[in-house]
Amino acid sequence: MKITDHIKNAKGKTLFSFELLPPLKGQSIQGIYDAIDPLMEFKPPFIDVTYHREDYIYKQHESGLLEKVSYRKRPGTVAICASIMNRYNVDAVPHLICGGFTKEETENTLIDLQFLGIDNVLVLRGDARHADSGFIPTPGGHAYATELLEQVANMNNGVYLHEDYDTAYKTKFCIGVAGYPEKHFEAPNMKTDFGFLKKKVEMGAEFIVTQMFFDNSKYVEFVALCRENGINVPIIPGLKPITSSKQLISLPKIFHIDLPEELSEAVQKCKSEKEVREVGIEHMIAQCKELMKVGAPVLHFYTMSNPGPTKRIAEAIF
Ligand code: FAD
Repeated sequence: MKITDHIKNAKGKTLFSFELLPPLKGQSIQGIYDAIDPLMEFKPPFIDVTYHREDYIYKQHESGLLEKVSYRKRPGTVAICASIMNRYNVDAVPHLICGGFTKEETENTLIDLQFLGIDNVLVLRGDARHADSGFIPTPGGHAYATELLEQVANMNNGVYLHEDYDTAYKTKFCIGVAGYPEKHFEAPNMKTDFGFLKKKVEMGAEFIVTQMFFDNSKYVEFVALCRENGINVPIIPGLKPITSSKQLISLPKIFHIDLPEELSEAVQKCKSEKEVREVGIEHMIAQCKELMKVGAPVLHFYTMSNPGPTKRIAEAIF
């Protein structure tokens, strides 16, 4: 079912959902089930599975020369989605990224997703590879989420890459995109970033999932800005509790977000990592209760495939 229909059917009740990372290459699907099982009691109507671009490793040859080899550390998003849908009877939402795919490969993936009965996709540009200083598009691929979105929207209209494609079946993907209440880090200002978000919605995006935030006023202001500018699709807050003291540095660095002073001071006062986790969970419970009051359609957790903290939060709020 489309995410937008899940939200409509909930008639104003806030839903619970979460995101998983594909397990590292070589691990089994059991790791995914172990990350899902503890959270199923909260009845998620959908579960997201991230996509990861290939990265580089350097192999040293006997001659001493280093060879740059491309490898994918977390493969299997499409297969994991199929497996989740069959085992749990919930909608699985694959993330689709520009980086690492030609347009033809993206089309083939979308055809596979349609065969599998997957109704929703979250369309993103994707992160830069670790070795690159910024995002480098794959030759023959897309540079921005808007371009990838256009390809999915075209397929929803029966328009494929090559005119001689003889079964121009109209796919029915419900398309989601990312939104940044604290601005995407590459955008010169909020207005520019917001302009592209608006464009994505005008091009067919039906829901927005936000980057994580720790101060609800950022979400409230972002939703208000969207509504004032005619963006009326559901805006799903993305949430992640602080679980270690190191995250005071790593979260702002990786995700380009602010941590509220009271939260960072409370973490700094903790005497153990266990105490930090408690502070993070309590902060997130309070955030969630407020988000429910302001009408968030879904509380969507970035679990990083560690269900423990999310389970504690869900127990307190659902
Ligand atoms: P875009 O919308 O392409 O925006 C990128 C930047 O370019 C922005 O600064 C924007 O203002 C600007 N811009 C947008 N469109 C245009 C245009 N047409 N012309 C010029 N400039 C433009 N990454 C992964 O690799 N895998 C994942 O599974 C994944 N899941 C995510 C889920 C969520 C909910 C979020 C919020 C992020 C996720 N990311 C993931 C990270 C995401 O890929 C990065 O934040 C990336 O840097 C931007 O993605 P985007 O789709 O917002 O890009």
